[in-house]
Amino acid sequence: RESTSTFDTRVGETLSIMPPRTRTSSRTPSKASSSAKSPAKTRSRQAAKPKASARVKTAPVTPTAPAAAMHYEFGGPIGAAAITLVLPLVCYFLVYACNEDGCAAVGDVARRGLASLPGFPKSMPLFDAQGAVMALGWMAFTIIAHVALPGIEKQGVVLPDGSRLTYKLNGFRVFVATCVVGAIGTHAGVIDLTLVHEKFLSMLTAMIVFSYALSTYLYASSFGRGKMLAKGGDSGNAAYDYFIGRELNPRLLNGKFDLKVFCELTPGLIGWLLLDLGFAAKEYATFGAVSPAMALVCAFQGAYVIDALWNEPAILTTMDVTTDGFGFMLAFGDLVWVPFTYSLQCRYILEHPQALSNAHLALVLLVQCVGYAIFRGANSQKNLFRTNPNDPRVAHLKTLQTKRGTKLIVSGWWGICRHINYLGDWIMAWAWCLPCGFSHVVPYFYVIYFGILLAHRDARDGEACEEKYGADWVRYCAIVKYRL
Ligand code: NDP
Repeated sequence: RESTSTFDTRVGETLSIMPPRTRTSSRTPSKASSSAKSPAKTRSRQAAKPKASARVKTAPVTPTAPAAAMHYEFGGPIGAAAITLVLPLVCYFLVYACNEDGCAAVGDVARRGLASLPGFPKSMPLFDAQGAVMALGWMAFTIIAHVALPGIEKQGVVLPDGSRLTYKLNGFRVFVATCVVGAIGTHAGVIDLTLVHEKFLSMLTAMIVFSYALSTYLYASSFGRGKMLAKGGDSGNAAYDYFIGRELNPRLLNGKFDLKVFCELTPGLIGWLLLDLGFAAKEYATFGAVSPAMALVCAFQGAYVIDALWNEPAILTTMDVTTDGFGFMLAFGDLVWVPFTYSLQCRYILEHPQALSNAHLALVLLVQCVGYAIFRGANSQKNLFRTNPNDPRVAHLKTLQTKRGTKLIVSGWWGICRHINYLGDWIMAWAWCLPCGFSHVVPYFYVIYFGILLAHRDARDGEACEEKYGADWVRYCAIVKYRL
C-alpha cells in the first residue's frame, strides 16, 4: 500500500483533541469540523497529555467543541457485529464451495442450492494440532524476527495530541529472513511447504481463533490509562468499537512494538505469499512441474507483496494507520482475510489444473502490465509530488492550492479520476484471477470483493478529504469529476 499524505510534515499546525470521557484517562481525538463524529456531549474539555516516552511533541493542542452525533460506518453496531461473525464463515465457505472435490457452478447452485456444493474435503481437517502449530509458529517466528532484527526508524504522522510516534520498520528484512530460513529448512528437510494445502483449514481455524483473541485483548486493553483512542472507534457501543478498534496505536514492550503496523505488513502479507508458494510446491510435487498459470499468479502476487514491504514507510500515512483504531476489522483483515482469501486463486489452480493457451497467457500479462502501469504510475506520481513538488517529473502538473496548505493534483494521473491508483489495483486483480480460466466463478471472488472494497474505501477517503479540505475538496471534485 502507498500513501502520500504530507500530514506528518506540517509541524506546528494547531490540532484539536477531544479529552477524556469522564475521569478515565481515555482520549478521543476530534477535529474542529462540523462533521466531527464523537458522541461527546458528556465529555470534559481538558487537553490530554501525550505519552512522552515514544512521542515527540510538535504542535500545540487546542480543545474543540464536542460533536453532535456519532457517525457510524459499516451499517453501525448491527452491521459491525454481523461482519465480525460472518467474515470467518466466508473464509470457510470459499473452501466449502470450491476445493479438490469440486467447485460451485452458478447454474447448479441456482438449481440445487447448497446441496450442489462439494463440502469440506476429507483431506483437509477443520482443526488439527499440526495446523495450529504451523499457523501460530509462523506468528511467533515473525514476532521474534521483528523484535530481533534491526529496522529503520521512521516517525509517523502528527497525532491528534500533537505528538508523533517512532516506528521500527523491518518487514522487508523479516521477508528476507523468512526466505533464508525457508530455503535452509526445506533443504534440510525440516520444512515442507507442500503441507500448507492439507493444513489450510486447520491453519485458518487457528488464525481465526487467534484474531478473535487478539481483538478481545485490544478492546480490553484500550480501557487502560493514557490510551489514545481512534476517532471512529470510541462510540461507546461494544460491538461496534470491538470491530472498528478503540485504540489508535496499541503498543507492547514499553511502547517499542507497534501491534497495528506490525500486523498490517509482516505476518499476513508474507504469510499470503507462503501459502501461494506452498500451493505451487504441492503442484510441483504432484504434477512434476509448476504450471504457467500458477507461476504467473505467484509472480504477480509476489511482486505486489515485495513492493509493499519495500515501500514499508508508506504505510505510516495510510488511513489504516493514521485514522482507524486497531480492532477486529484490521486484526482479522491482516492476519486471516488477506492470506487465506487472497491465495484462493493459487489453491484453485492447484486443485483445478489450467492448461491455458499462449493467447490467454499473453492477455493476462497485458492486463497485469496495464494495471501495474496505472497503479505504480499514479502512486509514484503522488508520492513524488508530496515528497518534492519541484521534481521535474511532477513540477509541470496542474494543482489546486488548498487553505489547508497542501496542493491537490488536478492533471496527470490524478486529473483522470480521484482514485486512479485504485483502478490500477483493480485491473491487476483481474490479472490475478484470469489465469483460473472460465469454468467457475469462485476463483473470481477476489476481483469482485476487491472492487467493492475499493469503492467503499474511495467513499471513506472522500469523506475524510472533505473533512480535511472542506470547500477546497468540493472545488477539487468539480474539476476531477470521476471517482474511480
Ligand atoms: P491513496 O494513496 O489514494 O491516498 C489518499 C490520500 O491521497 C488522500 O487522503 C489525500 O491525502 C491524498 N490525495 C487524494 N487526492 C489527491 C490529489 N489529487 N493530489 C494529491 N494528493 C491527493 O489511498 P490508500 O492509502 O487507500 O491506497 C494506497 C494504495 O493501496 C492504493 O493503490 C490502493 O489500491 C492500495 N490498497 C490495497 C489494498 C489491498 O488489500 N490490496 C487495500 C487498500 C489499499 P492528503 O491530501 O492528506 O495527502
